[in-house]
Amino acid sequence: MEKSDQELKAGEITEVFTYDQKFIGKGYVNPQSQIPVRLLTRNRSVEINEQFFLDRIRECWDYRQKTGYIENCRLVFGEADGLPQLIIDKFNDYFVLQTLALGIDVWKPAIVKALETIFSPKGIYERNDVPVRELEGLPQHKGFLSAPFDTKITINENGLRFYVDVENGQKTGYFLDQQDNRRAIQHIVKGADVLGAFTYTGTFEIHAAHYGAKSVLGLDISAGAVEQANANAQLNGLEKIVRFEAANAFDVLKQWSKDGRQYDVVMLDPPAFTKSRETLQKAITGYKEINLRGMKLVKPGGFLVTSSCTNLVNAELFLQIIDMAAKDARRKLRQVSFQRQAADHPIIRGMENTEYLKFLIVQVQ
Ligand code: SAH
Repeated sequence: MEKSDQELKAGEITEVFTYDQKFIGKGYVNPQSQIPVRLLTRNRSVEINEQFFLDRIRECWDYRQKTGYIENCRLVFGEADGLPQLIIDKFNDYFVLQTLALGIDVWKPAIVKALETIFSPKGIYERNDVPVRELEGLPQHKGFLSAPFDTKITINENGLRFYVDVENGQKTGYFLDQQDNRRAIQHIVKGADVLGAFTYTGTFEIHAAHYGAKSVLGLDISAGAVEQANANAQLNGLEKIVRFEAANAFDVLKQWSKDGRQYDVVMLDPPAFTKSRETLQKAITGYKEINLRGMKLVKPGGFLVTSSCTNLVNAELFLQIIDMAAKDARRKLRQVSFQRQAADHPIIRGMENTEYLKFLIVQVQ
Protein backbone atom coordinates (compact mmCIF):
# COMPACT_ATOMS: atom_id res chain seq x y z
CA MET A 1 0.00 0.00 0.00
CA GLU A 2 1.05 3.54 -0.75
CA LYS A 3 0.09 4.85 2.63
CA SER A 4 -0.22 3.19 5.95
CA ASP A 5 -3.65 2.02 7.05
CA GLN A 6 -4.05 5.01 9.37
CA GLU A 7 -3.66 7.53 6.57
CA LEU A 8 -6.20 5.93 4.25
CA LYS A 9 -9.73 7.25 4.36
CA ALA A 10 -12.57 4.75 4.20
CA GLY A 11 -13.95 4.44 0.69
CA GLU A 12 -10.92 6.00 -0.98
CA ILE A 13 -9.24 4.51 -4.07
CA THR A 14 -5.65 3.46 -3.50
CA GLU A 15 -2.84 1.75 -5.37
CA VAL A 16 -1.55 -1.51 -3.96
CA PHE A 17 2.06 -2.67 -4.22
CA THR A 18 4.04 -5.69 -3.15
CA TYR A 19 6.64 -5.20 -0.39
CA ASP A 20 9.24 -4.61 -3.14
CA GLN A 21 7.17 -1.91 -4.82
CA LYS A 22 5.69 -3.95 -7.67
CA PHE A 23 2.27 -2.66 -8.69
CA ILE A 24 -0.57 -5.09 -7.90
CA GLY A 25 -3.66 -3.06 -8.64
CA LYS A 26 -6.03 -0.29 -7.68
CA GLY A 27 -8.86 -0.77 -5.28
CA TYR A 28 -11.03 0.77 -2.65
CA VAL A 29 -10.17 0.76 1.02
CA ASN A 30 -12.01 0.41 4.27
CA PRO A 31 -9.69 0.33 7.30
CA GLN A 32 -12.70 -0.62 9.42
CA SER A 33 -13.34 -3.80 7.43
CA GLN A 34 -11.65 -7.20 7.79
CA ILE A 35 -10.78 -6.84 4.10
CA PRO A 36 -8.96 -3.49 4.01
CA VAL A 37 -8.60 -3.30 0.20
CA ARG A 38 -10.68 -4.77 -2.60
CA LEU A 39 -9.21 -4.52 -6.10
CA LEU A 40 -11.05 -2.94 -9.02
CA THR A 41 -8.29 -3.13 -11.62
CA ARG A 42 -4.82 -4.57 -12.19
CA ASN A 43 -4.12 -1.99 -14.88
CA ARG A 44 -2.29 1.08 -13.58
CA SER A 45 -3.39 3.29 -16.44
CA VAL A 46 -7.08 2.72 -15.76
CA GLU A 47 -8.66 5.56 -13.79
CA ILE A 48 -11.42 4.75 -11.34
CA ASN A 49 -14.12 7.24 -12.29
CA GLU A 50 -17.64 7.36 -13.76
CA GLN A 51 -16.37 6.11 -17.10
CA PHE A 52 -14.78 3.09 -15.41
CA PHE A 53 -18.17 1.97 -14.06
CA LEU A 54 -19.88 2.57 -17.39
CA ASP A 55 -17.23 0.49 -19.19
CA ARG A 56 -17.31 -2.33 -16.62
CA ILE A 57 -21.09 -2.59 -16.60
CA ARG A 58 -21.10 -2.59 -20.41
CA GLU A 59 -18.64 -5.51 -20.29
CA CYS A 60 -20.93 -7.32 -17.84
CA TRP A 61 -23.88 -6.84 -20.16
CA ASP A 62 -21.85 -7.99 -23.14
CA TYR A 63 -20.99 -11.26 -21.36
CA ARG A 64 -24.65 -11.89 -20.43
CA GLN A 65 -25.80 -11.23 -23.99
CA LYS A 66 -23.13 -13.57 -25.39
CA THR A 67 -24.14 -16.35 -22.99
CA GLY A 68 -27.88 -15.90 -23.54
CA TYR A 69 -28.94 -14.26 -20.27
CA ILE A 70 -30.83 -11.30 -21.56
CA GLU A 71 -34.35 -10.73 -20.25
CA ASN A 72 -33.59 -11.53 -16.62
CA CYS A 73 -30.09 -11.97 -15.34
CA ARG A 74 -27.61 -11.19 -12.65
CA LEU A 75 -25.99 -8.35 -14.54
CA VAL A 76 -23.21 -7.85 -12.00
CA PHE A 77 -21.99 -10.66 -9.73
CA GLY A 78 -19.51 -8.84 -7.52
CA GLU A 79 -15.93 -10.00 -7.60
CA ALA A 80 -16.61 -12.43 -10.47
CA ASP A 81 -17.25 -9.33 -12.60
CA GLY A 82 -14.37 -7.31 -11.20
CA LEU A 83 -16.76 -5.20 -9.12
CA PRO A 84 -16.39 -6.54 -5.58
CA GLN A 85 -19.47 -6.29 -3.36
CA LEU A 86 -21.69 -4.96 -6.14
CA ILE A 87 -24.75 -7.01 -7.09
CA ILE A 88 -27.17 -5.96 -9.82
CA ASP A 89 -30.09 -8.13 -10.90
CA LYS A 90 -31.96 -7.29 -14.09
CA PHE A 91 -35.63 -8.20 -14.22
CA ASN A 92 -36.60 -7.22 -17.76
CA ASP A 93 -36.70 -3.39 -17.59
CA TYR A 94 -36.13 -3.16 -13.84
CA PHE A 95 -32.88 -3.30 -11.89
CA VAL A 96 -32.22 -4.19 -8.27
CA LEU A 97 -28.91 -3.17 -6.80
CA GLN A 98 -26.88 -3.98 -3.69
CA THR A 99 -23.69 -2.18 -2.68
CA LEU A 100 -22.30 -4.24 0.16
CA ALA A 101 -19.08 -2.38 0.93
CA LEU A 102 -18.36 1.28 1.60
CA GLY A 103 -15.88 1.61 -1.27
CA ILE A 104 -18.50 0.55 -3.81
CA ASP A 105 -21.38 2.33 -2.07
CA VAL A 106 -19.76 5.71 -2.70
CA TRP A 107 -19.95 5.00 -6.45
CA LYS A 108 -23.71 4.39 -6.41
CA PRO A 109 -24.50 7.56 -8.41
CA ALA A 110 -22.03 6.50 -11.12
CA ILE A 111 -23.50 2.99 -11.19
CA VAL A 112 -27.06 4.31 -11.49
CA LYS A 113 -25.96 6.66 -14.27
CA ALA A 114 -24.33 3.77 -16.13
CA LEU A 115 -27.57 1.73 -15.92
CA GLU A 116 -29.53 4.70 -17.22
CA THR A 117 -27.11 5.15 -20.11
CA ILE A 118 -27.03 1.51 -21.15
CA PHE A 119 -30.62 0.41 -20.52
CA SER A 120 -32.97 3.42 -20.05
CA PRO A 121 -34.62 1.34 -17.30
CA LYS A 122 -38.24 1.59 -16.16
CA GLY A 123 -37.00 1.47 -12.59
CA ILE A 124 -34.01 0.96 -10.29
CA TYR A 125 -34.37 -0.21 -6.70
CA GLU A 126 -31.80 -0.48 -3.92
CA ARG A 127 -31.94 -3.54 -1.64
CA ASN A 128 -29.27 -2.63 0.84
CA ASP A 129 -31.29 -3.93 3.78
CA VAL A 130 -28.63 -6.53 4.51
CA PRO A 131 -26.76 -7.00 7.80
CA VAL A 132 -23.37 -7.49 6.09
CA ARG A 133 -23.32 -3.72 5.40
CA GLU A 134 -22.95 -3.09 9.11
CA LEU A 135 -19.54 -4.80 9.09
CA GLU A 136 -18.53 -1.99 6.74
CA GLY A 137 -20.00 0.70 8.98
CA LEU A 138 -22.88 1.21 6.54
CA PRO A 139 -26.56 1.52 7.49
CA GLN A 140 -29.19 -0.90 6.19
CA HIS A 141 -31.45 0.78 3.68
CA LYS A 142 -33.86 0.10 0.82
CA GLY A 143 -35.61 2.42 -1.61
CA PHE A 144 -35.90 3.81 -5.12
CA LEU A 145 -32.89 4.95 -7.12
CA SER A 146 -35.16 6.06 -9.94
CA ALA A 147 -38.63 7.57 -10.07
CA PRO A 148 -40.93 5.38 -7.94
CA PHE A 149 -42.64 2.45 -9.69
CA ASP A 150 -44.90 -0.48 -8.78
CA THR A 151 -42.41 -2.76 -7.04
CA LYS A 152 -44.36 -5.94 -7.75
CA ILE A 153 -43.19 -6.75 -11.24
CA THR A 154 -43.72 -9.79 -13.47
CA ILE A 155 -41.01 -11.72 -15.26
CA ASN A 156 -40.94 -14.59 -17.77
CA GLU A 157 -38.77 -17.62 -17.16
CA ASN A 158 -38.72 -20.78 -19.26
CA GLY A 159 -42.14 -19.86 -20.67
CA LEU A 160 -43.70 -19.30 -17.24
CA ARG A 161 -44.53 -16.07 -15.43
CA PHE A 162 -43.55 -15.08 -11.91
CA TYR A 163 -44.23 -12.11 -9.69
CA VAL A 164 -41.09 -10.54 -8.30
CA ASP A 165 -41.50 -8.33 -5.26
CA VAL A 166 -38.36 -6.24 -5.49
CA GLU A 167 -39.23 -4.26 -2.36
CA ASN A 168 -40.20 -6.97 0.12
CA GLY A 169 -39.03 -10.24 -1.46
CA GLN A 170 -36.00 -12.15 -0.18
CA LYS A 171 -32.60 -10.78 -1.28
CA THR A 172 -33.24 -8.93 -4.57
CA GLY A 173 -36.73 -10.47 -4.85
CA TYR A 174 -36.05 -13.59 -6.90
CA PHE A 175 -33.43 -16.33 -7.19
CA LEU A 176 -32.09 -16.14 -10.73
CA ASP A 177 -29.20 -18.51 -10.02
CA GLN A 178 -31.42 -21.60 -10.41
CA GLN A 179 -32.93 -20.60 -13.75
CA ASP A 180 -31.18 -23.33 -15.75
CA ASN A 181 -31.55 -25.90 -13.00
CA ARG A 182 -35.33 -25.42 -13.01
CA ARG A 183 -35.33 -26.73 -16.56
CA ALA A 184 -33.33 -29.77 -15.53
CA ILE A 185 -36.37 -31.34 -13.81
CA GLN A 186 -38.35 -31.34 -17.06
CA HIS A 187 -38.41 -35.12 -17.71
CA ILE A 188 -38.34 -36.62 -14.24
CA VAL A 189 -41.52 -34.87 -13.07
CA LYS A 190 -43.77 -36.08 -15.89
CA GLY A 191 -46.83 -37.79 -14.35
CA ALA A 192 -45.21 -37.59 -10.90
CA ASP A 193 -46.48 -36.77 -7.43
CA VAL A 194 -44.01 -34.14 -6.34
CA LEU A 195 -43.10 -32.72 -2.94
CA GLY A 196 -41.06 -29.51 -2.79
CA ALA A 197 -39.61 -27.96 0.35
CA PHE A 198 -38.06 -24.50 0.83
CA THR A 199 -40.11 -23.25 -2.09
CA TYR A 200 -40.05 -19.43 -1.65
CA THR A 201 -41.83 -18.08 -4.79
CA GLY A 202 -42.57 -21.66 -5.85
CA THR A 203 -40.50 -21.61 -8.99
CA PHE A 204 -39.37 -25.25 -9.02
CA GLU A 205 -42.82 -26.51 -8.10
CA ILE A 206 -44.58 -24.41 -10.75
CA HIS A 207 -42.05 -25.64 -13.30
CA ALA A 208 -42.85 -29.22 -12.21
CA ALA A 209 -46.57 -28.64 -12.78
CA HIS A 210 -45.83 -27.05 -16.14
CA TYR A 211 -43.67 -30.02 -17.16
CA GLY A 212 -46.51 -32.46 -16.51
CA ALA A 213 -46.45 -33.47 -12.84
CA LYS A 214 -49.67 -35.07 -11.61
CA SER A 215 -49.67 -33.23 -8.28
CA VAL A 216 -47.28 -30.87 -6.54
CA LEU A 217 -47.19 -29.85 -2.90
CA GLY A 218 -44.76 -27.10 -1.85
CA LEU A 219 -43.72 -26.19 1.69
CA ASP A 220 -42.11 -23.03 3.03
CA ILE A 221 -41.85 -21.78 6.58
CA SER A 222 -42.75 -18.22 5.57
CA ALA A 223 -46.46 -17.43 5.21
CA GLY A 224 -45.56 -14.53 2.89
CA ALA A 225 -43.61 -16.86 0.60
CA VAL A 226 -46.51 -19.33 0.53
CA GLU A 227 -48.90 -16.55 -0.45
CA GLN A 228 -46.56 -15.41 -3.21
CA ALA A 229 -46.07 -18.97 -4.47
CA ASN A 230 -49.83 -19.61 -4.60
CA ALA A 231 -50.25 -16.33 -6.51
CA ASN A 232 -47.59 -17.51 -8.98
CA ALA A 233 -49.39 -20.84 -9.44
CA GLN A 234 -52.56 -18.90 -10.31
CA LEU A 235 -50.71 -16.55 -12.62
CA ASN A 236 -49.78 -19.61 -14.67
CA GLY A 237 -53.19 -21.31 -14.41
CA LEU A 238 -51.63 -24.22 -12.54
CA GLU A 239 -53.36 -23.82 -9.17
CA LYS A 240 -55.28 -27.10 -9.59
CA ILE A 241 -52.03 -29.06 -9.78
CA VAL A 242 -49.72 -27.18 -7.43
CA ARG A 243 -50.44 -25.82 -3.98
CA PHE A 244 -48.27 -24.39 -1.26
CA GLU A 245 -48.55 -24.63 2.50
CA ALA A 246 -46.69 -23.01 5.39
CA ALA A 247 -44.66 -25.59 7.33
CA ASN A 248 -41.28 -26.22 8.88
CA ALA A 249 -39.76 -28.68 6.42
CA PHE A 250 -37.50 -30.26 9.04
CA ASP A 251 -40.46 -31.23 11.23
CA VAL A 252 -42.89 -32.15 8.49
CA LEU A 253 -40.51 -34.29 6.43
CA LYS A 254 -39.54 -36.21 9.54
CA GLN A 255 -43.17 -36.84 10.46
CA TRP A 256 -44.20 -37.80 6.95
CA SER A 257 -41.40 -40.31 6.54
CA LYS A 258 -42.53 -41.89 9.84
CA ASP A 259 -46.07 -41.96 8.45
CA GLY A 260 -44.77 -43.80 5.38
CA ARG A 261 -45.72 -41.15 2.83
CA GLN A 262 -44.08 -41.60 -0.59
CA TYR A 263 -43.50 -39.30 -3.55
CA ASP A 264 -42.13 -39.82 -7.04
CA VAL A 265 -39.99 -36.70 -6.77
CA VAL A 266 -38.80 -34.73 -3.73
CA MET A 267 -37.16 -31.34 -4.25
CA LEU A 268 -35.14 -29.47 -1.60
CA ASP A 269 -33.70 -25.97 -1.88
CA PRO A 270 -32.88 -24.75 1.64
CA PRO A 271 -31.36 -21.36 2.45
CA ALA A 272 -27.64 -21.08 3.26
CA PHE A 273 -27.10 -22.86 6.57
CA THR A 274 -23.97 -20.96 7.57
CA LYS A 275 -21.79 -18.07 6.53
CA SER A 276 -18.97 -18.76 8.97
CA ARG A 277 -16.50 -21.57 9.44
CA GLU A 278 -17.35 -21.83 13.15
CA THR A 279 -20.80 -23.16 12.37
CA LEU A 280 -19.83 -25.28 9.36
CA GLN A 281 -20.41 -28.50 11.29
CA LYS A 282 -23.97 -27.40 12.05
CA ALA A 283 -24.56 -26.77 8.36
CA ILE A 284 -23.24 -30.24 7.49
CA THR A 285 -25.59 -31.79 10.05
CA GLY A 286 -28.47 -29.75 8.63
CA TYR A 287 -27.84 -30.87 5.06
CA LYS A 288 -27.46 -34.48 6.08
CA GLU A 289 -30.65 -34.40 8.12
CA ILE A 290 -32.86 -32.78 5.50
CA ASN A 291 -31.53 -34.94 2.66
CA LEU A 292 -31.96 -38.09 4.71
CA ARG A 293 -35.58 -37.11 5.36
CA GLY A 294 -36.05 -36.24 1.70
CA MET A 295 -34.64 -39.55 0.44
CA LYS A 296 -36.85 -41.57 2.75
CA LEU A 297 -39.90 -39.94 1.17
CA VAL A 298 -38.87 -40.97 -2.36
CA LYS A 299 -40.45 -44.12 -3.80
CA PRO A 300 -37.89 -46.66 -5.00
CA GLY A 301 -36.89 -45.52 -8.48
CA GLY A 302 -38.07 -41.97 -7.83
CA PHE A 303 -35.89 -38.87 -7.78
CA LEU A 304 -34.39 -36.48 -5.27
CA VAL A 305 -33.61 -32.95 -6.50
CA THR A 306 -31.40 -31.25 -3.96
CA SER A 307 -29.58 -27.92 -3.78
CA SER A 308 -27.13 -26.16 -1.52
CA CYS A 309 -26.18 -22.50 -1.72
CA THR A 310 -23.81 -22.50 1.27
CA ASN A 311 -20.52 -21.20 -0.09
CA LEU A 312 -18.44 -22.93 2.61
CA VAL A 313 -19.91 -26.33 1.74
CA ASN A 314 -18.02 -26.98 -1.47
CA ALA A 315 -19.15 -29.39 -4.17
CA GLU A 316 -17.05 -32.27 -2.91
CA LEU A 317 -18.27 -31.89 0.65
CA PHE A 318 -21.88 -31.55 -0.46
CA LEU A 319 -21.70 -34.79 -2.45
CA GLN A 320 -20.07 -36.52 0.54
CA ILE A 321 -22.94 -35.38 2.76
CA ILE A 322 -25.46 -36.76 0.27
CA ASP A 323 -23.58 -40.08 0.23
CA MET A 324 -23.65 -40.20 4.04
CA ALA A 325 -27.38 -39.52 4.05
CA ALA A 326 -27.93 -42.30 1.50
CA LYS A 327 -25.94 -44.72 3.62
CA ASP A 328 -28.04 -43.92 6.67
CA ALA A 329 -31.25 -44.15 4.66
CA ARG A 330 -30.00 -47.46 3.20
CA ARG A 331 -30.69 -46.23 -0.32
CA LYS A 332 -28.52 -46.40 -3.41
CA LEU A 333 -28.19 -43.27 -5.52
CA ARG A 334 -27.75 -42.97 -9.26
CA GLN A 335 -26.59 -39.52 -10.32
CA VAL A 336 -28.72 -37.98 -13.07
CA SER A 337 -27.08 -34.58 -13.15
CA PHE A 338 -24.92 -32.29 -11.10
CA GLN A 339 -25.00 -28.62 -11.96
CA ARG A 340 -23.91 -25.28 -10.60
CA GLN A 341 -25.36 -21.78 -10.68
CA ALA A 342 -26.40 -20.29 -14.03
CA ALA A 343 -23.61 -18.72 -16.10
CA ASP A 344 -24.83 -15.18 -15.37
CA HIS A 345 -23.31 -15.82 -11.93
CA PRO A 346 -19.90 -16.64 -13.38
CA ILE A 347 -17.48 -18.90 -11.59
CA ILE A 348 -13.95 -17.56 -11.80
CA ARG A 349 -11.52 -20.46 -11.76
CA GLY A 350 -9.37 -20.30 -8.66
CA MET A 351 -11.73 -17.89 -6.91
CA GLU A 352 -13.59 -20.15 -4.49
CA ASN A 353 -16.04 -17.55 -3.27
CA THR A 354 -17.57 -17.22 -6.74
CA GLU A 355 -18.52 -20.90 -6.68
CA TYR A 356 -21.45 -21.52 -4.40
CA LEU A 357 -24.51 -23.27 -5.79
CA LYS A 358 -24.70 -27.05 -5.96
CA PHE A 359 -27.66 -28.68 -7.70
CA LEU A 360 -27.98 -32.45 -7.80
CA ILE A 361 -30.56 -34.81 -9.23
CA VAL A 362 -30.31 -38.45 -8.18
CA GLN A 363 -32.46 -41.46 -8.73
CA VAL A 364 -33.10 -43.05 -5.35
CA GLN A 365 -33.05 -46.81 -5.64
N1 SAH B 1 -36.53 -22.68 -4.27
C1 SAH B 1 -36.61 -21.24 -4.21
C2 SAH B 1 -35.59 -20.61 -3.27
C3 SAH B 1 -35.67 -21.06 -1.86
S1 SAH B 1 -34.91 -19.98 -0.72
C4 SAH B 1 -36.45 -20.66 -5.60
O1 SAH B 1 -36.13 -21.37 -6.55
O2 SAH B 1 -36.65 -19.45 -5.74
C5 SAH B 1 -35.11 -20.82 0.77
C6 SAH B 1 -36.51 -20.80 1.37
O3 SAH B 1 -36.51 -21.67 2.51
C7 SAH B 1 -36.97 -19.45 1.90
O4 SAH B 1 -38.16 -19.07 1.24
C8 SAH B 1 -37.26 -19.68 3.41
O5 SAH B 1 -38.44 -19.03 3.85
C9 SAH B 1 -37.44 -21.17 3.45
N2 SAH B 1 -37.16 -21.83 4.75
C10 SAH B 1 -36.18 -21.57 5.63
N3 SAH B 1 -36.22 -22.45 6.67
C11 SAH B 1 -37.25 -23.29 6.42
C12 SAH B 1 -37.78 -24.41 7.10
N4 SAH B 1 -37.26 -24.86 8.24
N5 SAH B 1 -38.83 -25.05 6.54
C13 SAH B 1 -39.38 -24.64 5.37
N6 SAH B 1 -38.90 -23.57 4.69
C14 SAH B 1 -37.85 -22.90 5.19
